[in-house]
Amino acid sequence: MEKVIKAIKRLKEEKNEPLCSYLYDLVHLRKHVEQVTGMLPENCRMYYAMKANSEKEILETVYPFIEGFEVASIGEVKKARAVSPTVPVIFGGPGKTDDELAGGILENVQLFHVESMQELKRLAIIAEQLDKKVSVLLRMNLRGPFPSATLHMAGRPTQFGIDEAQAEEAIQLALSCPSLQLEGFHFHSISNNLNHKRHIELINIYFEKAKDWSQKYDFPLAYINVGGGIGVNFSDLHQSFHWDGFTDELQRLIVQENMQDVTIIFECGRFLTSSCGYYAVEIIDIKETHSKAFAVIRGGTQHFRLPVSWQHNHPFTIIPIEKWRYPFERKAVGSQEITIVGQLCTPKDVFAKDVMIEELRIGDIIMFLYTGAYSWSISHHDFLSHPHPQQLFLQEESVLKV
Ligand SMILES: *Cc1c(COP(=O)(O)O)cnc(C)c1O
Repeated sequence: MEKVIKAIKRLKEEKNEPLCSYLYDLVHLRKHVEQVTGMLPENCRMYYAMKANSEKEILETVYPFIEGFEVASIGEVKKARAVSPTVPVIFGGPGKTDDELAGGILENVQLFHVESMQELKRLAIIAEQLDKKVSVLLRMNLRGPFPSATLHMAGRPTQFGIDEAQAEEAIQLALSCPSLQLEGFHFHSISNNLNHKRHIELINIYFEKAKDWSQKYDFPLAYINVGGGIGVNFSDLHQSFHWDGFTDELQRLIVQENMQDVTIIFECGRFLTSSCGYYAVEIIDIKETHSKAFAVIRGGTQHFRLPVSWQHNHPFTIIPIEKWRYPFERKAVGSQEITIVGQLCTPKDVFAKDVMIEELRIGDIIMFLYTGAYSWSISHHDFLSHPHPQQLFLQEESVLKV
């Protein structure tokens, strides 16, 4: 983080207008992804779920360390193909159109994650018309019971996957279509999970289900996609998902369940790219209303929607800036609670509410941490027509690419 802070201070010295930048530490990203993927058991493969952050520099940085990209639109297929014409691409997401299915086939998608019965039928016809045999995983929405009640995408009614109650129908249909090759199942049921033991329990359920179905309907199980959902703890960044404990237990589970010959796919987003990103913004104003203090930053949740969308106080650090160019005294607050807000004309434009700070002055910089995933990519950039933040990439020590 020190080199990021240095880069930001330098940027601030060079410019007069208020700072508002995303900064990505690609050196960190490279190391992190290499480490995470290096710890996986032998029959596991890591794909990057590019919806978390599909900036070209991010994709190119993770590419050498991952097996491929997980995509959810033809636009994302094209982004993957721009990085490499041959990188494996797996295609999921609800509501794929005929053009997207055909486009995916023509772009040599490795696996289609089929989300419904109707999609299965459409894919079979389109593949047949193109005279191709396509590999599919059926995305299943399991009924449970599960070890926890915190599942987001399955275990309850959602638009994702095929209801477990329809498993037989879906499997028989997939097996009966000459243009489809049923290769296994896809389960992505949880988001931002912080408990590695619970994640192992969940994967154990996936293993059992997939094995049962492959035995019962007599087809070889080539893949199980266990999804993403490995979490980042925004309320305590030092207490995040215990990846080494998880990969150790996963290795034991694979042996115990005799899954060594099945390829286990992970498709992680947040866990790979969250920690490399920073959103650094200057304090434009500090004020008190009804006895509460507010700091207004240059920017807003139209750049960085994550804390509003997850309803959390986002972690940040303060970078003191000594420059002050007005003839009046600089407004400062200290040793008190403050709410950090953006420039939007809505009370929802909040990054952190009533958080304790030591000292904050107008002109200082707030640097939000862990903004590399679901940050710029999920935000409504043009609401209120403020300028977009700069996107900066720290390639090596102190080399900034703008
Ligand atoms: C979003 C998504 C992912 C990635 O989830 P993370 O929580 O970022 O790891 C993986 N698979 C599917 C199907 C998704 O929709």
